[in-house]
Parts: sequence; C-alpha cells; structure tokens
Amino acid sequence: MKKKSMKFGIDIGHNSPPDTGAVGIKPEDQLTMDVGNRVINKLRALKHQVIECKPQRSRSITDSLQTRCNIANANRVDLFVSIHFNAFNGLANGTEVFAMSSSGRKFGQPVLDEIAKLGFFRRGLKNGSHFYVLKKTRMPAILVECCFCDARKDMRIYEPEAMANAIVKGLTGELPGEDEPVIHIPDEEDNPNKAVLRLQKALNRLEIPGQNGRSIVEDGIIGKQTKTAVENFQRITAIQQTGIAGNTTWGAINQILSKRVLRRNHAGGVAVRYLQHRLGADTDGIYGPQTEGFVKRFQQQNSLVADGIVGPRTWTKLIGCDSLSKTVSGT
Ligand SMILES: [Zn+2]
Repeated sequence: MKKKSMKFGIDIGHNSPPDTGAVGIKPEDQLTMDVGNRVINKLRALKHQVIECKPQRSRSITDSLQTRCNIANANRVDLFVSIHFNAFNGLANGTEVFAMSSSGRKFGQPVLDEIAKLGFFRRGLKNGSHFYVLKKTRMPAILVECCFCDARKDMRIYEPEAMANAIVKGLTGELPGEDEPVIHIPDEEDNPNKAVLRLQKALNRLEIPGQNGRSIVEDGIIGKQTKTAVENFQRITAIQQTGIAGNTTWGAINQILSKRVLRRNHAGGVAVRYLQHRLGADTDGIYGPQTEGFVKRFQQQNSLVADGIVGPRTWTKLIGCDSLSKTVSGT
C-alpha cells in the first residue's frame, strides 16, 4: 500500500546571513545544506511535494526565522521540518528531535529512531517550545538536531547520504529506489524477552565463550559459566563488566542480532565492536578503512561479494540465520 503524497516544508537551517550556523569541526551551514538538499531530492523522488522554506538572505535572525514560518504557513504544508546540527562543548554528542504538538511528536519519533540506528547516541524526542520556528508554524513541525558538528565522536560517523536517508525514512517509512514500501517488521532490537535461556542461546550464537573458552550449557540457569560469558561480551562491546545482563547488555545483544547493515563511515557502536572482535580488528567501534579491509577479506574467504558492506549475507555467515526468539507458527 502506497502512502498518500504529502506536502513537506523543508527548512535548511541557517544559510541566510546574518543567520549563520554554528562552527564546529565542520560548519553547520555546510552540513544542513548537504543533508537538507538530499532530503528534498529524495522526498521529491518519492513523489511528495516539497516547499523550500529557507530565505537566501535576511535582515536579522528573527527575520530569517519568521520568513521560514511565513513560507510554510502560506503554502499550508502538512509538516514543517527544520534541519540543524548541534554544537556544545566538543564532548556532548548524539541526536535529538524537537516537537511541540503530539502530531509533531508522531513524525519526530521515527526520525529520531532512524538517526539513532546510524550509531548516534539517542538524546531523545524533546519538547521544542523554545524554538521560534516550532512556535510560529501553524502545522505539525519538527526540528532535527542531526548530531553535533563540534563532536569528534559524531563527525567520525556522520555521512550526509546516510543522514538524509534516515530522515526521509523516518518521515515517510520508505526510501527512493526501494521497490517495495517498507513494511514494519517487529525489530529484534526491541525484543523484550530477557529470559536466561534466551541469553545463553544468544551468547552461544554470538560465539561468546564462558569459562575455559567453552560454549555455555543452555540450561536456563545463571551459573558461573554464563556470568563469565556475559563479562566477555561486555568487554568486547565496551559495556561495564558486571557479569549481569541488564538493559544495556540486552540492548547490545539485540542490536547485533538485528543484523543492521554496517558499512564504512555509516556505522558505529556495539555492532561494529562485535564485528571487529569477530574479524580480529581493533575494537574501537568505528567502521573505518581498517575494519573495511577485514570485512572484505572475510567476505572473500566466505565466497561473498567483497564489497565491505556487512549486509544480511555477511551477518548470516557470522551469526547464523535464524532468529532466536521468534517462533514461527504454521507453515
Ligand atoms: Zn542550528
């Protein structure tokens, strides 16, 4: 089922002197343009209508912001989307989306989810009542702080194409070039099953050994062996080593089992650390050239296309193919 065409008001943040963006490792003006123009093109490719809301030049910051709202209001867009990058102290990092109305939040949540999947820390969906453009637009509106332009952590994994894809996917549920509209399949990442037996099966499937390098007995009982395996997993994924599988550990396990596509400069975090561990690369959690080299070699050795992209086939070679917890009923 194809979704109905929408009219989007896309506001490429700043870029309208004297309204210029933050300057971090990269200037916000450049980042919002790189991402915003891609978002506009992709939405149009998906047959949505786009109204560009950014003025070329402004008399003042307020004039810049008010003009954006005026354009959106005059065109009665269905959703206003303002694209920005954060800056703070060089250490703060991650992605956050702001909205005021509940209808705005409904659009904001999937955008946040998609950007977080790229490996950015999920700062959350927040109340944006302090943002001029959210207050003065008369339709559902969101402001996306994609990530921090002054944070090394973010700028190392940031890639404009992936960011634009995440925003478009979040807004529409699909991407241009995908034949079928995306059907929402319950995500392994959200799997709430935290049973001991599932933990043991998962650790064995991920080839995380217990004591003496042996695989764990799947008996549903937390013993020394299972605790050691949990500790090993926590060490690999840079989670505090407690030997107890809490929310963070389960989140990491589920993230790996969900087999999200990993590729150079598009991914970071626990799945990349796990991948690096399995391939014998340095486990720094960053999918850079070294990791890509290891992936290509692994793919070659396993008769896969050596494209350096960890997709479903490569994941299956690493961790097998059946889902642990989903029981398939019937035929
Ligand atoms: Zn900004």
